[in-house]
Amino acid sequence: MGGMKAPEDLLRKIRQGNRFLLTSHVNPDGDAIGSELGLARLLRRLGKGAVVWNHDATPTLYRPLPGSERIHVGEEPPAGFPDQFDAIIVLECPSPDRTGIEAHLDQRPVINIDHHLGNQCYGVVNWVDSAAPAVGEMVYRLAQGLKMSLEPEVASCLYLTLVTDTGGFRFSNATPAAFEAAAALVREGAHPEQVSQWLYESQPLGVIRLLCEMLQTLQLHEGGRIATGRLTRDMFARAGAAPGDSEGLIDHLRSIAGVDAVALIREREDGSHKVSLRSRGEVDVEKIARHHGGGGHRNAAGFTLEGDGEDIRRQVAAALRAALG
Ligand code: 5GP
Ligand code: MN
Repeated sequence: MGGMKAPEDLLRKIRQGNRFLLTSHVNPDGDAIGSELGLARLLRRLGKGAVVWNHDATPTLYRPLPGSERIHVGEEPPAGFPDQFDAIIVLECPSPDRTGIEAHLDQRPVINIDHHLGNQCYGVVNWVDSAAPAVGEMVYRLAQGLKMSLEPEVASCLYLTLVTDTGGFRFSNATPAAFEAAAALVREGAHPEQVSQWLYESQPLGVIRLLCEMLQTLQLHEGGRIATGRLTRDMFARAGAAPGDSEGLIDHLRSIAGVDAVALIREREDGSHKVSLRSRGEVDVEKIARHHGGGGHRNAAGFTLEGDGEDIRRQVAAALRAALG
């Protein structure tokens, strides 16, 4: 069966509030966007106001999601914040600083809904379930707690969170609860074929060109047990790719036979480097990320480093080597 029910204090806070601000982490992924849009729509159907505010733009991949065009993006709060809001719901975000809008979070009570290991429980209500396959699955349980049926659009948003966070039901978090939630969401009107089309058959050409660039930087280490790749600002420019277009490219590194751990080192527009880590089975990359001030899950984690890209590649390869044990 699925996980625990949504806690009563959470249900109460939601019933009591009239207008909510929803946010998530910087560089929002499918679980972040799908959970936000699904929950926003649920709240509106309860007759409440809901505004999604993200620090960073929605990656191209998730733009087809219903309601994505209404997401407020950037440093500046949306109109009416904080006066016209009762609470801030932070989804899929382990710590306040990861929202990118931390300075605004103390202006209203924070409701924290997440499945990351090491969530800092920074809310007045904290619902953290590290066994949940996706936060979208928790939002589904929340809807059940509120005794709400789902609109097809909500079901598709939440279904998408399961698909992206489990890598298409391939990762170790593709648990019975993940399949049960997926089945329930399809029953409620989620459209798997359409979600697959959004995720896998709507790539801008720039993404494919960027993949070409990344593959040319591929290096294998430890007799092929580790793979690393890089993306530089020049590569984005040559490919005609936007900053969000690298989402998912790291999966190509992990697809290589015999590889147990991979890293993708991506140069950001400000010149800093985002390190994304993925691993198989017992190999723990969350520990490496945490050591560098980042975080994530055992098999998917990330952090930021300053310095030369090739130096960072060597440093990260050494850390992965140690993690292989
Ligand atoms: P990605 O590599 O796709 O950006 O992130 C993989 C996982 O690691 C996600 O669960 C993401 O939330 C987490 N993650 C990535 N970068 C950071 C970071 O800088 N800090 C923390 N705490 N988590 C991160
Ligand atoms: Mn997630």
